Amino acid sequence: MERKRYDAVALLSGGLDSILAVKVIEEQGLAVKCLHFVSPFFGKPGKVKHWEAIYGLDITAVDLGEDFAALLRERPAHGFGKVLNPCVDCKIIMISRAREMMERYGASFIITGEVLGQRPMSQRRDTLNVIRRDAGVKELLLRPLCAQKLDPTPAEESGLVDRSRLHAIFGRGRKEQMALAEKYGLTEIPTPAGGCKLAERENARRYWPVLAHSPHAAAAEFKLANIGRQYWAGPHWLSIGRHQADNEALVRFAFPADLHFKVAGFPGPLAIGRQFDGKLWDAEVVRDAAAFVASFSPKAVREGTPVSVRVAGPDGMAEVSVTPARTTPLGWSELNWQGVREEIRADARARALPVPEGNDDGPDGQSE
Ligand code: SF4
Repeated sequence: MERKRYDAVALLSGGLDSILAVKVIEEQGLAVKCLHFVSPFFGKPGKVKHWEAIYGLDITAVDLGEDFAALLRERPAHGFGKVLNPCVDCKIIMISRAREMMERYGASFIITGEVLGQRPMSQRRDTLNVIRRDAGVKELLLRPLCAQKLDPTPAEESGLVDRSRLHAIFGRGRKEQMALAEKYGLTEIPTPAGGCKLAERENARRYWPVLAHSPHAAAAEFKLANIGRQYWAGPHWLSIGRHQADNEALVRFAFPADLHFKVAGFPGPLAIGRQFDGKLWDAEVVRDAAAFVASFSPKAVREGTPVSVRVAGPDGMAEVSVTPARTTPLGWSELNWQGVREEIRADARARALPVPEGNDDGPDGQSE
């Protein structure tokens, strides 16, 4: 049964720093409720039980999917990092949600595993201050790993937390964290932070066209974009499975108004065509998509004659006869990162938002 009262809530990404930050506070005899935020872009809800068991933590998974979809739709006020990662706004959302949840747990402060100077965008001192201010947690936020490099917080000043037992870690080195991990007897050291899909070019190019073309861009659409291969022809979106697991996931994330394409009589992938807002695709678009989908069935291609593709949609099932073709009049293609990056920059300029800088030499990386 869940404990009624905690001293603090913590943002727990599952990265080493976030775990250590909690341990440092728990070591002082304080109770911490860990919040593990989940969205189509980050979070491992399936690991919560495992982490609880091996690290002895008390963790609740919190779904931020729709908050995040809204943030991307409306664009982050503090801009994107090197890829599609809105790190500053992300932190503000997470910490704001933690603040809302404090009351439920009876907590009086919030812990994060941030370390000053560790990451380029979201963990600089000025950025940390922006986050503190915009999340409305100026007095509540405690960063145990670098607290001694920051001004004392009320939790320290009141004596609830012993500041002398907090840390002054700075920069990108991992030596001090590894020493702490040993001290706390962590048997499994999480691999260096990572795993935010918004910070990966391969995934950003999947998400950007959803933002550009979907009238609503809900969390469920980004979940669909995570699966299989993603092809676009103007505003028309096809998600094509690469294997059985993809095909099953596509069915799970399809909307009732979607079209399901499958070549008949030959092995081949499932493809989902999204009819945004239930707007039906023209017969020409359906035929074009069917020919393209059929080209992913090697046996159908080898046949050298027209094949049947079953197209199931909200109006029932139809079969269209097409010649498999990877190049079709509509020109289905996967977006490449360079093109997407230019679109992201142009979009930011048009909205008078910060334009992502940098030479694209790597992602900003997931924060703790
Ligand atoms: S990299 Fe981390 S801080 Fe940045 S958007 Fe992703 S989860 Fe948020």
